[in-house]
Amino acid sequence: MAGNRTFTMIKPDATGAGHTGKIIDKIIDAGFSIKAMKWAQLSKAQAQEFYVVHSERPFYGELVEYMTSAPIVAAILEKDNAVEDFRTLIGATNPAEAAEGTIRKMFATSIAANAVHGSDSDDNAKIEGEFHFASTEVTA
Ligand code: ADP
Ligand code: MG
Repeated sequence: MAGNRTFTMIKPDATGAGHTGKIIDKIIDAGFSIKAMKWAQLSKAQAQEFYVVHSERPFYGELVEYMTSAPIVAAILEKDNAVEDFRTLIGATNPAEAAEGTIRKMFATSIAANAVHGSDSDDNAKIEGEFHFASTEVTA
């Protein structure tokens, strides 16, 4: 059975452009409840570790530089079928291919600066949530 939590980050292009509040509104309107949230600046080491699965990809250096270029908002979200439903809400990685009404279609500027992160599996949602939050920072 699908799990009920996922992990997201509002990325530097979106926080820098003043889209944080609008994106949080869309997340809540879509039925997700916030279990943890913080505004934070990622260090280079944190960004490298978070995206280590992409370390062999040609865009890894650009991705780490981008993710450390301005603050992010990290959050743990709860909803039935959270991982899949959140991926649907954010849309395709490349905003040019994202469906109308998705967060990336509305707010992303490029395939790199694509406004939001969403976990791709229940296992990664747990790993990513624990990467950013101590258990005492997560509500029941
Ligand atoms: P998603 O975030 O949709 O799960 P991936 O896991 O494939 O996408 O990639 C992680 C992040 O790396 C993307 O959200 C985006 O910021 C960046 N990225 C992916 N593909 C490219 C690319 N071809 N060029 C630059 N950045 C990319
Ligand atoms: Mg991914």
